[in-house]
Amino acid sequence: MSSNLLEVRGLSVQFRSAEGPLTAIDDLSFTIGHGQALAVLGESGSGKSVTAKAIMGILPQPAAKVTAGQVLLEGEDLLALTPKRLRAVRGAKIAMVFQDALTSLNPVVPVGAQIAEMYRIHRGDNRRDAQAKAVEMMRAVRIPDARNRAADYPFQFSGGMRQRVMIAMALALDPQLLIADEPTTALDVTVQAQILDLLQELRSERGMALMLITHDLGVASQVADEALVMYAGSAVERAPMAELMQRPSHPYTLGLLSSVPGPEHRAKDLPTIPGLPPLLSNRPTGCSFHPRCSFATDLCRQTRPAVVAGLPGREVACHHWEEVAHRDDATARA
Ligand code: SF4
Repeated sequence: MSSNLLEVRGLSVQFRSAEGPLTAIDDLSFTIGHGQALAVLGESGSGKSVTAKAIMGILPQPAAKVTAGQVLLEGEDLLALTPKRLRAVRGAKIAMVFQDALTSLNPVVPVGAQIAEMYRIHRGDNRRDAQAKAVEMMRAVRIPDARNRAADYPFQFSGGMRQRVMIAMALALDPQLLIADEPTTALDVTVQAQILDLLQELRSERGMALMLITHDLGVASQVADEALVMYAGSAVERAPMAELMQRPSHPYTLGLLSSVPGPEHRAKDLPTIPGLPPLLSNRPTGCSFHPRCSFATDLCRQTRPAVVAGLPGREVACHHWEEVAHRDDATARA
């Protein structure tokens, strides 16, 4: 058996369009170890959510297609499973929490019954046992007065409590990997902190791995052991979270970190990365980031950088990563 829980190898995803196939994910590889928390970082459109949907087998059909690669969960390729086997794996081994709990929950079914359905469908439990387990799961995600609240409908819960219901549903079957796609984006800062704490507690209680998709470096640094930075459908940097924050070695990561508000920005304009991510239909030649990169050279404009070993224990896709990693300025954050 593989020592990694999840291994994504050379994943490529294309979308159909009037202009022909558009590549949304391009030869993406990464791993998640048992019990590890990996943050997948990047701007909107970088391919984070498409990657999660490809792993879960829920890409929109027939618009999207996996054109290459493997998604190995404990050595079993999820992309090669029969629909029946994939349904059994989803929920039981791997589960997902989405950003918007209100649209993800069924508005006309009490939340307890929605969680109980997981036990009835996957475990064959009778209605009474499934409902008891659902209430227990609601307690596990710290929903107060769980027994009574199980009869309430989604609209009767606050945003934070609804997200807890979603987490309860995702964790009902004790998966080994939880994919959380921007789970706190719709929540205010206090509730966001509570949900992040809850995810951390549940992860350590259950020994579960977490793939946290976020554009928010603050959120990622609170939760993750490792970070994978994506740009234009490809991985550009992979590093232990603290080391990435301390010393980014890709210009895009450096730009993301520099644009996080900090005390040094008081009374100054917050730096931003100039320009916009490329359209799928109009990718730049060479390195996709070159039109926005202050380190770009002719080599960058002509040749796409491969992913290489960078600083110890890290990977980076940049021709000039050493210059970025070893620059001596105030942009690296402690
Ligand atoms: Fe910038 Fe060149 Fe590195 Fe791309 S390869 S990120 S353009 S320095």
